[in-house]
Amino acid sequence: MPLLKSWVESANAPDGQFPLNNLPYGVFSTENGPRRCGVAVGDSILDVTALEERGYLNVCETRVFAAPSWNAFMSLGPETWRRFRSHLQAVLGARAAQADRDVCFNALVPQADATMHLPVEIRGYADFYGCKNHAINVGTMFRGPENALPSNYLHLPIAYNGRASSIVVSGTDIRRPWGQLKDPGGAPPRFAPSERFDFELELGAIVGQPSKFGKPVTVAEAETMIFGYVLLNDWSARDIQTWEYQPLGPFQSKATANTISPWIVTSLALQPFRTSTQPREVQLLPHLQEPLPMLFDIDLEVLMLPSGAGEPLPVARTNYKEMYYSAPQNLAHHTTSGCPVEVGDMLGSGTISGTEPGSRGSLVELSWGGKEPVGLNGVGTRSFIEDNDTIIMRGASRGDGYLVGFGECVGKVLPAYADPYARDEVL
Ligand code: MN
Repeated sequence: MPLLKSWVESANAPDGQFPLNNLPYGVFSTENGPRRCGVAVGDSILDVTALEERGYLNVCETRVFAAPSWNAFMSLGPETWRRFRSHLQAVLGARAAQADRDVCFNALVPQADATMHLPVEIRGYADFYGCKNHAINVGTMFRGPENALPSNYLHLPIAYNGRASSIVVSGTDIRRPWGQLKDPGGAPPRFAPSERFDFELELGAIVGQPSKFGKPVTVAEAETMIFGYVLLNDWSARDIQTWEYQPLGPFQSKATANTISPWIVTSLALQPFRTSTQPREVQLLPHLQEPLPMLFDIDLEVLMLPSGAGEPLPVARTNYKEMYYSAPQNLAHHTTSGCPVEVGDMLGSGTISGTEPGSRGSLVELSWGGKEPVGLNGVGTRSFIEDNDTIIMRGASRGDGYLVGFGECVGKVLPAYADPYARDEVL
């Protein structure tokens, strides 16, 4: 499919992230105004809350954009998602009727004037471990090469339940956490700021349809329930993790924060970029098999902006097609017990790593546990994140003469509190 031309000129730039082929959904505000639902088009945002207030773009009988989240819209289901997107492409398209153009033109807000917020009210969050390259790297470091891949790995997508309450939007500062650290040898653990704070490059799948209590969904059904995807940085304290994770998995090491990009790139926009998961060593049980390719070809990169540096420095480059399990497989597995998923749940893919050294999606892998510090283009090296470093993640699928971009997922790491229990400090 070629670039879909728009009368919003900036949406036609070949290297722009938000052409009509994309149309990602977000929540924004301007100055001190209320939060509103918006759609990115070129360098603008179409204020769909305003359009709905004016009686234009009515999606259903009741108002769905009155609350500043996409949850109400998502709950209407895939047929409405498709219809709404086609309608937007028509009224923003180069051949739109003048009356539609006029109404939409008056609802455009420059992205430069907008502050972005969480696009959905996130209900539950589970983080998967679905990239085998990453699992082998981390497993080798934590348990040695013989025990790198757990025996269940090739049969099911491993995950832990994380916290929705600490999911924040891109641009939110992250405070370095305190926790229990255990040095090698016989010394007892100590309570201190994490010394091995890390990022994880992931994709978050946003669940747009619920499943029934007691009833699992198939992989094919799961795919129809996924509304879209965001970039996800699963901040991870490796030193807290190595001490706490056995036998129940990560807890405080992964709870500090998860940062997501503000724009939900819809599953519909990603259709031209479908690709299969990696070749399998063993056949999956039928309930986890993909009936068709369910990954997407999405180029991903991580950059770091150390405090005082002029521009972000590239740290890693990889692609979502490196995954061993797709989001629909993760979602199907998530419901096998009968535990329902809800509109607004998010599933983390797991750290996305390629097989080459520069394609690893976390510093613990890039620096191989701190043994091989990563060079920053002559501006020092990093084994782990240092105070005031900013981590930037970007992603885009490359179409024929256009991009489907994810925008940015940005977070700066602030120094730990001198005393986390002091009650006079303000974040
Ligand atoms: Mn993770």
